[in-house]
Amino acid sequence: FKIFISQRGIVASYMKEKGGEFVWFDGKLVKWEDAKVPIYTHALHYGTAVFEGIRAYAAKDSVYIFRLEDHMKRLHRSAQVYSISLKYSARELANATVELLQENKVKESCYIRPLTFVGLHGIDLNVTKDSPTHTVIITFPFAKYFKGEGIRACVSSWRRIHDSMTPPLAKAAGNYLNSILATQESKRNGYDESILLDIYGNVSEASGENIFVVRHDKMYTPYLADSALEGITRETVMMIAKDLGYEVIERQIARTELYMADEIFLTGTAAEIVPVTSIDDHPVGSGKEGPMTTSIREMYAKIVSAEAKEYLEWLTSVW
Ligand code: PMP
Repeated sequence: FKIFISQRGIVASYMKEKGGEFVWFDGKLVKWEDAKVPIYTHALHYGTAVFEGIRAYAAKDSVYIFRLEDHMKRLHRSAQVYSISLKYSARELANATVELLQENKVKESCYIRPLTFVGLHGIDLNVTKDSPTHTVIITFPFAKYFKGEGIRACVSSWRRIHDSMTPPLAKAAGNYLNSILATQESKRNGYDESILLDIYGNVSEASGENIFVVRHDKMYTPYLADSALEGITRETVMMIAKDLGYEVIERQIARTELYMADEIFLTGTAAEIVPVTSIDDHPVGSGKEGPMTTSIREMYAKIVSAEAKEYLEWLTSVW
């Protein structure tokens, strides 16, 4: 019993170190250890939750949250697909996030995770707008997602879930079982990340990132209809690319084009802009980060740390 107590203590202090003291829970700031849910919670059984992943960057004496309200708007769109009611507007959730970071005295770069989940609905599957839901926002310090200068990726033997099954456009918890299978396989085989094909065999996205392929000085990314998430970093990159004078084309991408690519990079809130230097052990281009990837990555880094004047409207300052 004593060991149990002390183990709980260890877990508690570890979590407290990792995350902030407070979480935002249905409109209130509560201590994380008091934020509890019953084991009957519907989302725990069926994955009936939608969520977001947001980053905040410490820069210039403040902490800047990147595209905060855009993330909260996507949370709303994801919830709508499943008739999961979300009682707080995107603006209210954005304000709540700022309040949470201030209350937690966050001064370093961090990750922010808003989550809306179905609560005590019972065990039936007929989730409606009247089903009880809860919304939480948690935050914790977060460093680089992928280590090193570039990553080794493989094409997964798992296919990306299709719009006709569990739609990848809705960022729902249950979708990530597909991503988890792909990740487990890639790590088991010694790779850093997996690229998934859609059910027709075209390139879709990585387990937790969108994909861009450079061929003959043009950038390509799959259509949203090719089972990709409408990534906020994807959209950001498409705008940066335009400003830098690069042509970006949305189209279907065949698997073999990955082996013929001059450059490949992945985009995501957690991963940011990360070059893929080999795919299924074929070097991509020179086997090092390519020049278009470098310029996009560097511009992105400037934008998120408030060094690009023309993009300041994407940032919410915490302090
Ligand atoms: N695809 C998947 C499956 C993801 O989980 C993510 C991360 N949210 C992305 C793409 C990238 O989206 P974003 O740029 O909005 O983080």
